[in-house]
Amino acid sequence: MPKNTKFIVVTGGVMSGLGKGVAAASIGNLLSSSLKVVPMKLDGYLNTDPGTMNPIEHGEVFVLDDGGEVDMDFGHYERFLGTTCKREWNLTMGKVFTGVNEKERRGDYLGKTVQMIPHGTNYIKEVFFETAKQEAADVLLIEIGGTVGDIENQLYIEAARQLKKQVGPNNILYVHLTYVPIPYGVNEQKSKPTQQSVDMLRQRGIQPDIVIGRCTKILDQKIKEKIASFCDVDETAVFTGLDVPHVYSMPLLFESEGMLKVIANKLGIEVKPDTAKWKSLIDNLDDLKQLVTVAICGKYTKLEDSYASIKEALLHCSAHTKAKIKIDWVDTAKIENKQHSLEERLKDVDAVIIPGGFGPRGVEGKIEVIRYVREKNIPFMGICLGLQLAVVEYARNVCNLAGAHSTEMNPTTEHPVVDILPEQKNVDKKGGTMRLGAYKAVLAQGSLASRLYASDEVWERHRHRYEVNPSYHMRLSNAGLRFSGMSEDRRLAEFIELADHPFFIATQAHPELKSSLLKPAPLFLGLVNAALAK
Ligand code: GLN
Repeated sequence: MPKNTKFIVVTGGVMSGLGKGVAAASIGNLLSSSLKVVPMKLDGYLNTDPGTMNPIEHGEVFVLDDGGEVDMDFGHYERFLGTTCKREWNLTMGKVFTGVNEKERRGDYLGKTVQMIPHGTNYIKEVFFETAKQEAADVLLIEIGGTVGDIENQLYIEAARQLKKQVGPNNILYVHLTYVPIPYGVNEQKSKPTQQSVDMLRQRGIQPDIVIGRCTKILDQKIKEKIASFCDVDETAVFTGLDVPHVYSMPLLFESEGMLKVIANKLGIEVKPDTAKWKSLIDNLDDLKQLVTVAICGKYTKLEDSYASIKEALLHCSAHTKAKIKIDWVDTAKIENKQHSLEERLKDVDAVIIPGGFGPRGVEGKIEVIRYVREKNIPFMGICLGLQLAVVEYARNVCNLAGAHSTEMNPTTEHPVVDILPEQKNVDKKGGTMRLGAYKAVLAQGSLASRLYASDEVWERHRHRYEVNPSYHMRLSNAGLRFSGMSEDRRLAEFIELADHPFFIATQAHPELKSSLLKPAPLFLGLVNAALAK
């Protein structure tokens, strides 16, 4: 067992979507200025990771440097804590059952009946202890997914309950996030859902030390007293999970209600928060000036969670440019089937992003959009599929390669300008088999890419199976498409750009994944600045 690690367990109640990930990340943010905080997320589903799920089901799949495909809450953790997370920090029931089963086959439990308790719960706790030890964590910040009543999360809750005895009551702190509604016509903050949710948690043996009530208004003293009394927590340990225009103000809000003091007292730790820079950026966000409209042209536009990191990256740019960025979600399937005229649809748009994606739906519409912004000098950034389609568009309309396409969309195209990566050809399993994680790109001297990054190399994260077909590189570049960033072996196109355009750049990577409030992704910042200049 790790000697000095403190454990913070975050659970949720009443319903999902109350911002448990943001609450956990905000606590981590406050602690991480002086402590090594390692975030863990425990998900109840049986998939090994979210990589095989549709983003409509589970939101964006977040990719880490090490290639792990993890829950999108890791986006919050990295952005709020400034840490580079690891795939092992996302536990799923899929991983737990596989792990227990491997141990059983190996003979680790010889003679025993293998059971949820103790073997399942022991396995989970071993992962906690192993992670804490390996990372030399001062604080292991454990977020349990879902809500306290969910059957699929019971094993995690039970493991978290057992933890107290093992690590000692002074080394663990339980935080419970609930909902405080103000029903229409009643106009009063209501505590009952919180009481019932905490009651359910206590039935499972966990007494929270801190209760956070999500609410449209700051919790008033009366409701804090009521929650404190019914839930048996200190009055000073009830906090507001306020509805805020952007999540980055949450750490400051928690701090203003005195959360650090409560945590430090309970765990016997010393914390020196350092919020000055963060606060100045939040002040910028509260004082935005010029309006810029950025179109995101994709197919999951109804579910904004599918593009969560892109939205965040744009917000980071707002904090640095003081531009108010309005996102215009453009469903390119509607452009394709002529429900929208392109000019009409994009007439108020200052910049365009074509994000990553899979499959053919809306693709022809995206290609039309790219042609439009290329010809009309509208600032453009392509991400992953966005790069591939920019290449298709250039091949078709500038290189005159009629019918050029990606073999993902048209396997029999006569000009496969985008093709499956050679190492992907024989891959027959879907889970975790894409080109995943951070890869180095070498940037051409004097290119827009190298200027934006202020460097001649960069590591960005990837998640794809297709690449710009190397046998077309020459033809495309002779026709004016600049390959401004290549993989180290020069085989893979990592960045492309156009010289005779105010801002036209695309990358095979996902720069949005490493963007943070303190350090926005350079490509995004470049795009927003170009839109402002326009
Ligand atoms: N579908 C494309 C590929 O697999 C692009 C993937 C993406 O945009 N993340 O290469």
